[in-house]
Amino acid sequence: MMHRLPLVLFVSLLCAQVQARDDATPSKPIKQASAKEDASVKEDSKPPGKESKDKESKEKPSKESKAAALARAKEEQAADDIAAKIADKLAIIRKEKEEAKARSNPNPRPLLRNSFIAPVRKPAAMGNANGVSTIAAHSAEHWSYEGEGGPLSWGKLNPANAKCDTGERQSPIDIRDGIRVELDPIGFDYKAASFSVVDNGHTIQVNLGAGNYITVGGRSYELVQFHFHKPSEERVNGKSFEMVAHLVHKDSNGKLAVVAVLIERGKPQPLVQMIWNNLPLEKDDPVKALSTIDMNQILPTKRDYYTYMGSLTTPPCSEGVLWLVMKEPIEISPEQLAIFNRLYPMNARPIQKLSGRLIKESN
Ligand SMILES: [Zn+2]
Repeated sequence: MMHRLPLVLFVSLLCAQVQARDDATPSKPIKQASAKEDASVKEDSKPPGKESKDKESKEKPSKESKAAALARAKEEQAADDIAAKIADKLAIIRKEKEEAKARSNPNPRPLLRNSFIAPVRKPAAMGNANGVSTIAAHSAEHWSYEGEGGPLSWGKLNPANAKCDTGERQSPIDIRDGIRVELDPIGFDYKAASFSVVDNGHTIQVNLGAGNYITVGGRSYELVQFHFHKPSEERVNGKSFEMVAHLVHKDSNGKLAVVAVLIERGKPQPLVQMIWNNLPLEKDDPVKALSTIDMNQILPTKRDYYTYMGSLTTPPCSEGVLWLVMKEPIEISPEQLAIFNRLYPMNARPIQKLSGRLIKESN
């Protein structure tokens, strides 16, 4: 009990800081989380003690350095514990805020964050023709972006999610030091298509009718769905963007290629507006739009891109995903940003280790 008061003070101080940063720079909190995640990934993926033993045998195996390492490990553990407590506290504060907001604003989507924290889902409702979200549904029980089911626990929530912890080719990454080459342009063959919008408890997803393709590396992939993250999951030279759209394509063998379109604040975006117009009132209950969308409208004018091999950024974190990140961001208006922010203020996985992977970029 003696320790409680200082801890609570410390936690609330940190919360205030985290929230202040939330508004100013969306990138900060992620960076902290990613550093932590890196540490835990390392711990989990190696047999216990192996790495530190290797290191020590190369350096001096003195008692002192062992003691120092032990102390450091303890410190890190303590920091992790505090971070977990902060995350919990933050979740509670946000929930209270949301409840207060809902009380003062009686009409729209009340307490959405509540069900976001503890999603009640019908796996069947998430399934759609594409298989991507169906895969996710099997291992999607209670994962979230903060608190107990947060990114650090994804690998432990279900054996099917093991790659989230142990994978060496995970996404997202901080894109830097790419090799500049003459990359073949991505062949976009998009045309107006029917669509439905679903709030799957983790993001707003748009499922598309057939007939939209990209060609890359001599392979053809069909666009099956796209969805949004806030802030952008990927970074470029350390910079994160307001949001990102992930356009998920699949080839005839089930291989995935995701086109990432970075989004910054600016002019209104007509395609995004169409999606927002069709936002569902209920989770896991797709709204079929009466109109069609033309996905050419969401692509930037310049088609230069970065490419690397990675993974799904949500459980089960399956690898072997070809990532194509467009260099030029598109713009959406502050109002459009605010609408998504109300539903999902933070749904980005922390940055993952590059582990020696090659990144190529258009010259
Ligand atoms: Zn995504």
